[in-house]
Amino acid sequence: MVITSAVTDPEEQTQSLHSTFASRYVRDPIPRFKMPEKCIPKDAAYQIINDELMLDGTPRLNLASFVTTWMEPECDKLIMASLNKNYVDMDEYPVTTELQNRCVNMIAHLYHAPIGEDEAAVGVGTVGSSEAIMLAGLAFKRKWQAKRKAEGKPYDKPNIVTGANVQVCWEKFARYFEVELKEVKLTEGCYVMDPVKAVEMVDENTICVAAILGSTLTGEFEDVKLLNELLTKKNKETGWNTSIHVDAASGGFIAPFLYPDLEWDFRLPLVKSINVSGHKYGLVYPGVGWVVWRSKDDLPEELVFHINYLGSDQPTFTLNFSKAGSSQIIAQYYQFIRLGTEGYKNIMENCRENARILREGIEKMGRFNIVSKDVGVPLVAFSLKDSSQHTVFEVSDHLRKFGWIVPAYTMPPDAQHIAVLRVVIREDFSRGLAERLVSDIVKVVDLLDTLPSPLSTKKAHVVAVANNETSEKAKKSALETQKEIALYWKRLVDGKRVGAC
Ligand SMILES: *Cc1c(COP(=O)(O)O)cnc(C)c1O
Repeated sequence: MVITSAVTDPEEQTQSLHSTFASRYVRDPIPRFKMPEKCIPKDAAYQIINDELMLDGTPRLNLASFVTTWMEPECDKLIMASLNKNYVDMDEYPVTTELQNRCVNMIAHLYHAPIGEDEAAVGVGTVGSSEAIMLAGLAFKRKWQAKRKAEGKPYDKPNIVTGANVQVCWEKFARYFEVELKEVKLTEGCYVMDPVKAVEMVDENTICVAAILGSTLTGEFEDVKLLNELLTKKNKETGWNTSIHVDAASGGFIAPFLYPDLEWDFRLPLVKSINVSGHKYGLVYPGVGWVVWRSKDDLPEELVFHINYLGSDQPTFTLNFSKAGSSQIIAQYYQFIRLGTEGYKNIMENCRENARILREGIEKMGRFNIVSKDVGVPLVAFSLKDSSQHTVFEVSDHLRKFGWIVPAYTMPPDAQHIAVLRVVIREDFSRGLAERLVSDIVKVVDLLDTLPSPLSTKKAHVVAVANNETSEKAKKSALETQKEIALYWKRLVDGKRVGAC
């Protein structure tokens, strides 16, 4: 949840909500920030909220997000029917629990976990990859601490080695659970973690190396196989036993279907846990993720809570108790049995094809460099060849006028001078939409060509003022403008990673 900020404007405080059609049912406006005293008819409440929500963007045109925006109506029905089931009541809803376990096992098999014939996989359904990463990180931290304690060594400075391209939830894990994040810096042209540099950074306090399957910024897969090789060698030399977590939030449902021979999962011995977002290419609405461990030994028993819930022992490993989990779990199970590997493969191939069409369309314009790779999560990330007059941020702003939400952001250190636009291709992004987007980008680029550059006009103004005027006032104004230019750039560079989620 976003933390609400206090409203400073007293006008705002007293403001009320007025609704167009709801005035047919309610005479008095309802207060914005205080609970209304009186109740209102249900159709009025519906109308007021529905009207206000019209101002939100259209999820299907939101090309910033990996998160599913469309499911089949049959699944919508199942979701609606299970919204009132509290997933944590495993005793009352044993079938839902069983469906969760089936999903965990299907995912573990998909990732080649070494599971014996009558063995169950180890894993849980979570609230997205963020919770999954918190749990996986905790397991690594505990295991490392236990080992250090047993060796009589200090265990107060754990770290994780990862690329500077990590998703923000790793920074969250690091801060909340007091683990240092040691980030491998990026370079121009290489926007993923370099395994050689990563392994160099590993020390005795490293609880794991986190590799990303599908960098959020460019969709590129990191080389987990090489990482596994290099780390095995280092472990032999040092006796440290450092292992790997794979953050497959976006790529976990891409790689098994499009690149089945790519070794990134439990086929590599040092990979101990993997997370994936069910609500990204798992094709379920927001609210579900998964984490699976290689084996029981990789999840410390002391983190598992055995809840005696209404008479039966339920082992759990989650951050929260109640959550809106049932409908999401059921929806994930629906997708698994409805689509099977064949269905997932078809959908992912389609996404890859649409990404190709979009990429080729953008390349043909001759104005952009493509930053994303052909192998990876189906998305197109691209930067302007020449940004001396206009920037990708202006392209993004102008595309909004056509209804498209295409984020623009700068790369993390040491590639922060590169700014890119990113279009995520989801199942609901059709070939027709890809073609339409290309033609709208052409329109935007043509329009920008006719507009003065915000940068050069400001520069020209500074020069003119400095040359022609000597009064104090003019000097001050020149200084102000210079400051403004600096601020303009700062704004472009700072905070532009938001939207890349
Ligand atoms: C999306 C994403 C996350 C966060 O996942 P949520 O499911 O949104 O919590 C973490 N890592 C990567 C690489 C991602 O793409």
